[in-house]
Amino acid sequence: MAKISIDDMAGFCKKKGFIFPNSEIYGGMAGFFDYGHLGSELKKNIKDSWWKYHVQDREDVIGIDGTIITHPKVWVASGHVESFLDIMLECTKCGEKIRADTFIEEKLKIAADGIKADAINSLIDDNNLVCPKCSSDFKKAEDFNLMFEIQVGPKKDSESMAYLRPETAQLMFTDFKLVYDSARAKLPFGIAQMGRAFRNEISPRNFLFRCREFEQMEIEYFIHPDKVQECPYIKEMLDYEFLVYSASMQDNKKPAGMMKLKDALKNKIIKTKWHAYWLSVEHKWFCDLGVNPKNLRIRQHLKEEKSHYALDTWDLEYNFPFGWKELQGMANRTDFDLRQHIKHSKKDLSIFDQETNKKVIPYVVAEPSLGVDRSFLVFMFDAYTTRKDEKGNEVVVLKLNPKIAPVKVGVFPLVNKLEEKAREVFDLLKKEFTCIFDRSGSIGRRYARADESGIPYCVTIDFDTLNDKQVTIRDRDTAKQKRVKIEELIGELKKLI
Ligand SMILES: [Zn+2]
Repeated sequence: MAKISIDDMAGFCKKKGFIFPNSEIYGGMAGFFDYGHLGSELKKNIKDSWWKYHVQDREDVIGIDGTIITHPKVWVASGHVESFLDIMLECTKCGEKIRADTFIEEKLKIAADGIKADAINSLIDDNNLVCPKCSSDFKKAEDFNLMFEIQVGPKKDSESMAYLRPETAQLMFTDFKLVYDSARAKLPFGIAQMGRAFRNEISPRNFLFRCREFEQMEIEYFIHPDKVQECPYIKEMLDYEFLVYSASMQDNKKPAGMMKLKDALKNKIIKTKWHAYWLSVEHKWFCDLGVNPKNLRIRQHLKEEKSHYALDTWDLEYNFPFGWKELQGMANRTDFDLRQHIKHSKKDLSIFDQETNKKVIPYVVAEPSLGVDRSFLVFMFDAYTTRKDEKGNEVVVLKLNPKIAPVKVGVFPLVNKLEEKAREVFDLLKKEFTCIFDRSGSIGRRYARADESGIPYCVTIDFDTLNDKQVTIRDRDTAKQKRVKIEELIGELKKLI
């Protein structure tokens, strides 16, 4: 559990140059954030790591990069025009607009996700709930579509109306046949995409957790509809262990428990091998990049939470300072999306199965769908620790995994006289790693600044360096130091990083 609140994290991110409030000099825009010099590097490293792990290191996942604006019929077919809604409450007096489900959850301490407007109205009446700002009554609850509408081209009419995409996923369905044919794909295979998405949230909150502009990393994984239980990769993950919180544990008020994937399958807690496989793969990506497995759990959706088309849905959740929250929803979506696009486009999106000599519409067995910004928050919270410096002041040590740390090496001359030699070392290292050069302040201050920026290794050049051609490497997490020859420095750092 993180030792810092979400507001303090936002303050820390701003101070260090990870994240700034967008257009702050004009008063800011709620739900929009800019990434600073450290944040943009960390975000890029997160995205690169995701792409490498999910696309480049795999034979069975193919990447695409589609547009943000697309034919509006895509969002009719996907169901977003009709049902991508939140329910809004508006105050009769001060006009304050708030999101109904989160308001109900906070006030009445009940689960209100997916609850309909009528039910909201009764709850408001029965419990005499009023505007949190001015204590006046609300108007009747209303549906509010979360898609941003825009005009394409010079005319301002309904014909030229389109949307900013609310998710990256639909292009994996609209481009499905093009990808399948051009990449000569064979089932099972996935299509991956990352990019920006937009949701006109009624009340964005919790810093990066719920933004209006954000980035996603998504995969739609297609399998033969008759082969739901045939996952050729499951063996690699059978002994993988994670914290599992099934629907029955939730119903029976039992705590989540550590479980091996093979036991979750044997006891039919996770229904299909494919679903279990992808849950463990996604969990592992976070853990491989340093997230403590105790702070991650997989939680099954309760019957009333599940979408109508989904056979089974699990969320990967993280233990944020404001509670366990969804990082990644993973539904078994069957052929719902492809069928919707077949119906609305009137195009044949089925593929020919050579084994059975029949046309089939593939099933999406899992859709690992992750927010870049939410992942960013997870890595920040999980890395955030503090230590006492020599004067007894508390300083932050951001223990980011070296693989994603925005800066890998800090280079410091012990005193300014040694700057020339230190520059030589810096020039050598910056060809291989992202580095910073810092000559100002005591060496202790420079270490502390590096620790706060999550820099895993610092290299110090001292007077002995001039004679023995050795430098000191300091480890951020242990503060341990060791002497290394300059000619062996790159190799040594590569080993560490
Ligand atoms: Zn009010």
